[in-house]
Amino acid sequence: MSPRDFLEDFKYMSTFGATGGGGIDRQAGTPENNEVRAWLREIFTSIGLIEHQDEIGNQFGLKEYIPGAPYVIVGSHLDSQPLAGKYDGSYGVLAAVHAVAEVMDKIENGDLSPAFNLAVVNWFNEEGSRFAPSMMGSGVYTRKLELETALKVTDRNGITVAEALGTENVRRHRNGPKPASYAEIHVEQGPILERNGNTIGLVESTWGAKKYIVTITGDQGHTGATPMNQRKDALYGAAKFIVAAREIVDQFASGVLHTSVSTLELFPNSPVTYAGEVTINLDLRSADTAVLDRAEELLAKERAKIEDLADVTICQQLAHQWGLIPYQSEGLELAEKVVCDLGEPFQYLKTVAGHDSTNMKDIVPTVMLFVPSKDGYSHNEKEFTTDNDMLVGVDMLVGVVEHLVTGQLNP
Ligand SMILES: [Zn+2]
Repeated sequence: MSPRDFLEDFKYMSTFGATGGGGIDRQAGTPENNEVRAWLREIFTSIGLIEHQDEIGNQFGLKEYIPGAPYVIVGSHLDSQPLAGKYDGSYGVLAAVHAVAEVMDKIENGDLSPAFNLAVVNWFNEEGSRFAPSMMGSGVYTRKLELETALKVTDRNGITVAEALGTENVRRHRNGPKPASYAEIHVEQGPILERNGNTIGLVESTWGAKKYIVTITGDQGHTGATPMNQRKDALYGAAKFIVAAREIVDQFASGVLHTSVSTLELFPNSPVTYAGEVTINLDLRSADTAVLDRAEELLAKERAKIEDLADVTICQQLAHQWGLIPYQSEGLELAEKVVCDLGEPFQYLKTVAGHDSTNMKDIVPTVMLFVPSKDGYSHNEKEFTTDNDMLVGVDMLVGVVEHLVTGQLNP
């Protein structure tokens, strides 16, 4: 495939779930996501890959060279956040398709001798926006999350993952292919590469993340009639908690802790009744476990103060977490060799966002690559990566997959 094909494919892919502001909206299990998956299925067929889906809807395209041998798996995700950019995940899946196609050509021409089979993957529900947790497909594949648990997760309308997956008319298999190694390329979703004038990022580790469901419970009452000193206003407590979660950041050095509250559900949500219960999420991230621990301690103190002040109870439950395990140094060395051969400016960096590779690196040797994101926009229609950077990324991935398929990360 030529570079022109990649850019044309990318343009076409971006029409699925396209939004008015130049982005996409393709949350997991929606018609828009099913449509782009059907398109990927056609692409798989056109380049000689056989589609194989596992029971959580991970969509693999398989090329078997050595019967029974494990697979070098390359990919990312085609689902998106609501009103998202068109690069996040999708770029990596299409780059994987093109890189694997190019490596397959080399194998067929006798330029490469494979030690493993090859697969492209589109992981199910990486984003976790409609169904939590995020990285669901790779979580099940790597056995960090039970299949049965994942299938029962519901969206806001009570639709389960199993039901959403049922809207796609395909045959599924209990398991995906056995992995030998994994490679993923993704947009950086931050400003560092662009700021430093680098085209390729070699990801050395993932920031740690802790995600909580926080329930603030009071007792609902009349917004007018109930005396102020008698109120147990859950939304008041939630508001204080949200501010506290934001402000603990200021107790650390700049940039070491990221915190967010990004959802809010209140009951009964009536203009004339103050809330009896509010549920929010809390997301804490740092590259330093000690910082995460300290942040939790500080927040626990604030929580107790808020419970007193607002006369509510606050229950904070851990819903999803991942640690700081680094990517394998052999993979970084391999990737550095490839990027040096290409002559592209590069740097090592950490990923603040989680990726499917965050799960995969814990079970097989994994290479994670970044290309620049203009101004660091992410989960926003303004997300942008240049055509040139996307094409360099594909070349980079070709080089990495060549090394992986000949078994260089598997001693
Ligand atoms: Zn992503």
